[in-house]
Amino acid sequence: MDGFLSMSDYVRTQISPIGEITVLTISLLIFVLIYLSRVIREEGVSLVRRMVMICFFASVIRLVEYIVMSRGIGGNALVYALRFIYYTFILSDIFVYSTYIQRLIWTGERERKRVLYFSGIAGLVAMALDIIFSFLGISFYLLPDGSVNGVAGNTLVAYVILVYIVVIVTVFKAGRRISRRVSGGVISSAVLSLALIVVQNLFHNQYWLTFAVLLSIISTIFIFHTGSYDHLSGAMVPEILITELDEALSKGKKKHMMVIAIRDLNDQFKNNKAFVDSYRGFLNDIVKNGLVCRIWDVGIAVLYDGPLDVDRLDPDKVCRRLDGLNVAYKIICVETDERVGKGSEYFDMLVDVRRRMPTGSLRIVGNKDFELYATNRYIITELIDIYSKRDLLDERVMTYCQPVLNIKTEKYDTAEALMRLSLENTGVVYPDQFIPLAEEYQTIHVMTLIILNKTCRFIRKTIDDGHDIQRISVNFSMLDLREEAFCKDVLDIIEANNIPPEKIAIEITESLTANDLEEIKPKIIMLHEKGITFYLDDFGTGYSNFDRIMELPFQIIKFDRSLVLQSAKSNESRYMVGSFAKMFRHLDYNILFEGVENEEDEKNCKEMDAQYLQGYKYSKPIPIREFERFIS
Ligand code: C2E
Ligand code: CA
Ligand code: CA
Repeated sequence: MDGFLSMSDYVRTQISPIGEITVLTISLLIFVLIYLSRVIREEGVSLVRRMVMICFFASVIRLVEYIVMSRGIGGNALVYALRFIYYTFILSDIFVYSTYIQRLIWTGERERKRVLYFSGIAGLVAMALDIIFSFLGISFYLLPDGSVNGVAGNTLVAYVILVYIVVIVTVFKAGRRISRRVSGGVISSAVLSLALIVVQNLFHNQYWLTFAVLLSIISTIFIFHTGSYDHLSGAMVPEILITELDEALSKGKKKHMMVIAIRDLNDQFKNNKAFVDSYRGFLNDIVKNGLVCRIWDVGIAVLYDGPLDVDRLDPDKVCRRLDGLNVAYKIICVETDERVGKGSEYFDMLVDVRRRMPTGSLRIVGNKDFELYATNRYIITELIDIYSKRDLLDERVMTYCQPVLNIKTEKYDTAEALMRLSLENTGVVYPDQFIPLAEEYQTIHVMTLIILNKTCRFIRKTIDDGHDIQRISVNFSMLDLREEAFCKDVLDIIEANNIPPEKIAIEITESLTANDLEEIKPKIIMLHEKGITFYLDDFGTGYSNFDRIMELPFQIIKFDRSLVLQSAKSNESRYMVGSFAKMFRHLDYNILFEGVENEEDEKNCKEMDAQYLQGYKYSKPIPIREFERFIS
């Protein structure tokens, strides 16, 4: 019959074990490599592994089919069955491959579903047509004597070709939203497989069909799982952003980006299903033609060519969308600028700008931000230097102090030590600017110890000069208290200066969390037993938790200036603040009012049970040695 080949001719010309043996070898190699190498063990990788496994079994089936046909064992039914199983494997593999690509490049939900249904139904149709065509004698067909209608091109191969075309089109449509490397990688590997299948079908054989499918699956490992692609966010890893920025900077080309900083981003991706679902849609809606990169846990950045074009970024629309996502976000738009000459430095600058922004706000980075960033960079390098030198007399850390009036004795017998930085390029820097940096870069503890040391030295000197100061308080940050060696560090310095511990007080703020409390309570109690006094600083600014306050051995409660201002506003406010003071008095605490600026404040505070007053009315913070004037 026309088109029919004897089984042996068919085996000789149209099928061959060579492609399948290659597939078996390569898939075994891939298993070993995935096992041995540092491919990140994420969900996607195990999916790829399963796809490779299916290729492996498809090849095994093909080999069995080859043996069965070349030896003439079994019968037609066995050949049909093996052929059916083989194509089921290949079709499902290619289907999973295409949906996996969709998932990786974050195609919009609607389009994803459309493609999914289309390729699913097309696959079933291809299967059905193949069976019908077999019956009609158009497609693969066996005569009772075993001769074969060996038309290689069939609906199943057509289906595989169709899926590759769909993949190429989807990736093409995603455009610049994904990096050119990624889209280029997916498209070229799909084109290669496609070409391989088309060409061999021109020669009426399918030696390399399984191999072609395997090729495109393997390429996803290289494209998506070797580090440059972040599967969690559907974005490129930060290093890609750095490379792109560096490239633009070195060529003098402008780029601009919109950074969407999201609090606890990793956590959101991992645990907030609702966020992940809407994030995909959000990304597809807002990113028109930029490259999306992840900035670690900070957020995602969309990078565009050319100078900053706010209209194009349309950040207000982005804000509106983010409001719907129910996350704490900040949006920062910035363009490359020669003042920040390295790609990686843009991250530092973004963090710097972000620090100064309220949640839910938008900022276009301007000249002032660039200047502030430069200053902050400088301060940070100095802070790190101070930290690493650990010189307890470091001249850059200056000890100021503000005298405190003791109402009963009418003397300035206590004071608060306050830190200033004196840096070569900037002159004096105030705490508002450097304390947050020192905490962020974890240099605060050494700085606190320097202040403590200088304060102790000053106290030693006043004792030697025959003056009598009751004590000086030093501000401690929560990070200080968390230090393992906190107690030892403090006691060592006091001892080294040979002063009684009673001369030192430690101020801490009330914004303690429950965890903080558990950790620091034993330390505070220990130092208290050694004779150090504890002040509760900034009462009235945080969320007071009386339980916690009561658990710690505070002696003095410092009422924040905001309470002084509040109490002057109305009789009710005055009554409220006064009642707090009275209550603390009943519990044997002493009250200190901060920020007393004028007669009226003073009168007010005195009427509210104050024992100590501190503020500009008496003195601004002064270099600590000038405090001698107040005590002699
Ligand atoms: P704080 O502990 O509440 O210190 C009091 C702040 O109020 C000081 O600001 C002081 O100059 C200011 N002040 C004093 N009297 C008045 C007044 O009458 N009116 C007004 N409006 N303000 C007054 P400074 O020195 O700029 O310090 C700011 C904050 O920085 C401090 O607030 C403290 O939280 C932190 N800080 C300062 N020195 C240190 C330190 O050595 N270690 C740590 N961890 N933090 C410090
Ligand atoms: Ca204080
Ligand atoms: Ca305070």
